[in-house]
Amino acid sequence: MLTNAPRGTKDIYGSYMNTWKKLEDTVNEICTNFGFNEIRTPIFEHTELFQRGVGETTDIVQKEMYSFTDKGDRNITLKPEGTAGVVRAYLERKMYADAQPTKLFYITPAFRYERPQAGRYRQFHQFGVELFGSDKPSADAEVIALAANMLKNLGITNVELHINSLGGPECRKKYNNTLKEFLSKNIDSLCPTCMERYEKNPLRILDCKNEKCQAVLKDAPLAKDELDTECKEHFEELLRLLDAMEIQYVVDPWIVRGLDYYTRTVFEFISKDIGAQGTVCGGGRYDKLIEECGGSPTPAVGFGAGIERLIMTMEAINGSNEDKPTRDIYLGYVGENAKKTTFALVNELRNNNISVETDLMSRSVKAQMKYANKIGARYSAIIGDNELEENSVRIKNMETREQIDLNIEEIAKYMKENK
Ligand code: ATP
Ligand code: MG
Repeated sequence: MLTNAPRGTKDIYGSYMNTWKKLEDTVNEICTNFGFNEIRTPIFEHTELFQRGVGETTDIVQKEMYSFTDKGDRNITLKPEGTAGVVRAYLERKMYADAQPTKLFYITPAFRYERPQAGRYRQFHQFGVELFGSDKPSADAEVIALAANMLKNLGITNVELHINSLGGPECRKKYNNTLKEFLSKNIDSLCPTCMERYEKNPLRILDCKNEKCQAVLKDAPLAKDELDTECKEHFEELLRLLDAMEIQYVVDPWIVRGLDYYTRTVFEFISKDIGAQGTVCGGGRYDKLIEECGGSPTPAVGFGAGIERLIMTMEAINGSNEDKPTRDIYLGYVGENAKKTTFALVNELRNNNISVETDLMSRSVKAQMKYANKIGARYSAIIGDNELEENSVRIKNMETREQIDLNIEEIAKYMKENK
């Protein structure tokens, strides 16, 4: 037990960390370009927030939450997704009083108790964006454009954008009834889970991957046929904006998303590189969520993407990222006097934003040079009694093998110029 991590968790390091960092850098850059600001909310919240914000009928709330009572008898849950905490912060910090829309993004760990398998963990991570305060199709278009832009910049080009509209609450209610009426004739042919969904959340049945259910659903009525004029126009305007930005999409009436709170637009980016768990990014509009969480009615649109699944896709395309971060210089030493001078110099260089390593293992000169090579140092130098006496240190360019003799005081300046 002592040296086994809990089931469904993962350590992030090495080449995986390199890819992770590339992803984070890309996300930061693109969100900044789109005018989204980062938010970090706590890892845990009151359980009630997720019950309301994610929805009582979802698998997440019913089966997958890491919940516990703390020492003060509070019901606490480790966040199973990113949106609810951001909504809570938006309301609690009164961000609605700022110029609207409020545009936020997050990168957060998320926790779900489910059976671990390829691409499915108990602690995983999500990147997501939330745009609060606009019900216009242009807001949906901006959020989708951000996702498309990000995937392109990560090199994930073999994806298809599937998009659908579920309509507003009225259309959804009407469609729920039509769908239920249709399903009532076939209820015995559904899988046990979907039989349960029939009463509480029939829309979710459309999401079921079970073959029996799929067969029934072939002829099911579709949400798009129940849209009222306003919802229809909203969807069409969104598609026109996507066309204008040359963002390709497939209108896919089967996309419903698992969560209860979606209204109107729903979308998924589906990768063809990673097999069954192909959804790399999913989102939509949720105009009822903020009200559900205790705020006044506020429209919202956003998406979430699983970071591990994005990385899996990046690695399926590009292989693992073995690029090591390089050091500017390895500065070794021999002898006690040289050691002090070297440590002072190393510190000075680091204060000048130059990456330096020195010997922490009492290695021989030969072994120090070998180590300098191994860590990919761009320059190297060894300081000994001679160097101190003559105040002259030989700096070697590890790539070109060129050498230059410098006074100790000149090294920082030289390294800054050659960074
Ligand atoms: P799935 O159908 O795969 O269970 P989901 O509908 O539960 O997905 P969402 O709640 O929409 O997924 O979460 C958004 C994203 O988070 C998913 O598209 C996926 O990339 C990722 N994700 C969800 N659960 C896990 C998990 N257990 N491990 C790793 N990534 C996950
Ligand atoms: Mg799930």
